[in-house]
Amino acid sequence: MHGDEMQYIKEAFDTNWVAPLGKNVDEFEREAAAYVGVAHGAALVSGTAALHLAIKQVGVGHGDYVFCSDLTFAATVNPVSYEGGVQVFIDSDYDTWNMCPHALEAAFEKYPNPKAVIVVHLYGVPAKINEIKAICQKHSVPLIEDAAESLGATYEGKQTGSFGELSVLSFNGNKIITTSGGGMLLSDDKSATEKAKFWATQSREKFLHYEHNEIGYNYRMSNIVAGIGRGQLLHLDSHIAAKKRIYEKYKQAFSDLPVKMNPYTSDSEPNFWLSCMIINEEIDVTPANIIAGLEEKNAEARPIWKPMHLQPVFKGRDFITVSDKPVISVSAVSESIFNRGVCLPSDIKMSDEELELIIDTVRRLF
Ligand SMILES: *Cc1c(COP(=O)(O)O)cnc(C)c1O
Repeated sequence: MHGDEMQYIKEAFDTNWVAPLGKNVDEFEREAAAYVGVAHGAALVSGTAALHLAIKQVGVGHGDYVFCSDLTFAATVNPVSYEGGVQVFIDSDYDTWNMCPHALEAAFEKYPNPKAVIVVHLYGVPAKINEIKAICQKHSVPLIEDAAESLGATYEGKQTGSFGELSVLSFNGNKIITTSGGGMLLSDDKSATEKAKFWATQSREKFLHYEHNEIGYNYRMSNIVAGIGRGQLLHLDSHIAAKKRIYEKYKQAFSDLPVKMNPYTSDSEPNFWLSCMIINEEIDVTPANIIAGLEEKNAEARPIWKPMHLQPVFKGRDFITVSDKPVISVSAVSESIFNRGVCLPSDIKMSDEELELIIDTVRRLF
């Protein structure tokens, strides 16, 4: 928190617009959408709620297929199940760790009529979004971008979150900016964000009495929470710069180790939300060794998201890969990244001494 957040909260208190909606909500929607370069936003209680309403918007119903990034956090794909849809998980590529366009093509050969494609920009690294968008357009299938981790990242100079018909931001506590909890649905189609706002306020029809033609949800962001978001948005660029510095430090410090930092393509600029590394094949240091080594210094590292096709809850769902590269014991790119990858401490409040301690600790493990 920087202090600006409190100004907006104070304004809400002073005008007694604490809840439900108010100026901060309207302005936060406008400001966040303008930052991303999308016409409209609907501020919601979470990124998950935004994903849920995106899924409803494209009309996913019982038994409908939705192509989803395999290597992601479960929140990307759970809302498909809320509406009775069936996820088909698409493997990653090694260039971005995100959805492989070739695997996506292969999925369209097997399932020609999915309701939507949900692509994530994992750890703030843009997916090959132009290629993915072109494939979706070829098949006339809507693209939903999960930009929860990638706010501020660009692909060919264009913000992630501005490519999909619908896209989703998160302001959860761990994200690059936070409102404590919150999310936003973005779209150039005003009817989409208006419909989301309607569903998010219990689908209350415009009558004097309480009239409902559809099932609704209590998903709207409060005016206090939106005030935090407005203040945070002013500092997004400085957060990105600080995150990039951490990434560059790790990259330089580990350049002689048998590891690589999480990669990105030359036509993209990540927001460097999380610095991750992958240990080369046939090296016997494991992610668990690194996590345990850092734990001893009271520093928290984490595994890479476990791929969705390996999750017990999604047992039986299809998984599409075109991986022919013989990777050790696994044929999925996502699984190979999971087996060898680790998320490094990436907090922008870290001191230089703390960062040096982490670097030193990791280096000693090799
Ligand atoms: C955090 C996150 C979400 C969910 O956002 P919440 O605001 O926590 O509901 C969705 N997808 C990804 C990739 C995330 O990291």
